[in-house]
Amino acid sequence: MENKKFSKATDAVWAGEDNPYFKGAVTTPIVNSVAFAYKDLDEWYDVSIGKADGFIYSRNTNPTVASLEEKIRVLEGAEAATAFATGMAAISNTLFTFLKPGKRVVSVKDTYGGTSKLFLDFFPAYQVEVKLCETENHEELEYEIAKGCDLVYLETPTNPTLKIIDIKRIALAAKKIGAVVVVDNTFATPINQNPLDLGADLVLHSATKYLCGHSDAMGGVLAGSRELVKQVFHFREINGASLQADPAYMIARGMKTLELRISRQNESAMKIAKYLNGHSKVSQVFYPGLETHIGHEIAKSQMRGYGGMLSFALDGGYDLVEKFLPSLKLVHLAASLGSVSTLAGPPRTTSHVELTEEQRALLGIPESLIRYSVGIESVDDLLFDIEQALRKI
Ligand SMILES: *Cc1c(COP(=O)(O)O)cnc(C)c1O
Repeated sequence: MENKKFSKATDAVWAGEDNPYFKGAVTTPIVNSVAFAYKDLDEWYDVSIGKADGFIYSRNTNPTVASLEEKIRVLEGAEAATAFATGMAAISNTLFTFLKPGKRVVSVKDTYGGTSKLFLDFFPAYQVEVKLCETENHEELEYEIAKGCDLVYLETPTNPTLKIIDIKRIALAAKKIGAVVVVDNTFATPINQNPLDLGADLVLHSATKYLCGHSDAMGGVLAGSRELVKQVFHFREINGASLQADPAYMIARGMKTLELRISRQNESAMKIAKYLNGHSKVSQVFYPGLETHIGHEIAKSQMRGYGGMLSFALDGGYDLVEKFLPSLKLVHLAASLGSVSTLAGPPRTTSHVELTEEQRALLGIPESLIRYSVGIESVDDLLFDIEQALRKI
């Protein structure tokens, strides 16, 4: 048994959960203790300097949070993992750990809104040189990396048009010059994609989305080599963006069904994308599982499933979106994604609200675009719902 490599479905349930717990409890306890006590000063000292296992203070480490970290470590096939209060905390802690004045970062234009704000509004003030390439332009990325940089930051698939970046190819370019490669794997989840296996150095997630999966807790996680994760962990324990035990429990609980949920969402999203792709009232469908999608071949080579996110443009203007969306019965019209319930919204009023129409056009985001996060409902019901709403426009 010892060396058997388990499947993702098994790891999602068991990883980080195999300790004997208090009075034989069969689930991880929520340890809401700020500090941890020791009988004598020698033991306390040994734990303090990392010579012995144990916990000191929950801003640094906590047993419930450690259980979640172990789960994500195993699912991403990493040496180490550490958790944060939110996805943005994971991203900003990672970036601020490696990007000091005088450093250069190469990334893409389509990163998550908050990440893109860090690159455009915050880092220039710290004398960090930021170069954002056209997301699918691999030649431009390679060219900018070869010019020299310290960190390469990728996100694939991207929001909201599901653009795909070849992780292996870009990681290879980064290796040549010794840059650290970080990938935001939120959309794919470790069930569909493992960036570390493709050559990335660090992988991170907004655990708020698919990992938690129920829209009821926020968190972030980072996984990679012991050496790199330790550096970010050290910054996080000092700046204080730590995850608390309660949301850590909720996220780890959600993760036990991650493989089940993602399998269903992969399947349903594919069916919905195919249905929309042939519809007369839909002008464009963005889903990496469609053979017509520009990144399909790369997605096929680096993903095990194409995910539960898709977007589509109605054949007309924003007025159609205003009619269509409120007609849907089985969706929350809300921000966020990756939950058990289907959720939809237009980038024009949510993720990309701060951009002008021209800026959205430059990113290839039509005004009539709808982002649709497929839940775990019956796909027949979702298709019925979309069909009746399309009939109303
Ligand atoms: C939501 C999201 C984030 C930010 O995560 P929070 O938990 O909201 O801070 C980062 N990246 C991606 C791709 C996301 O969807």
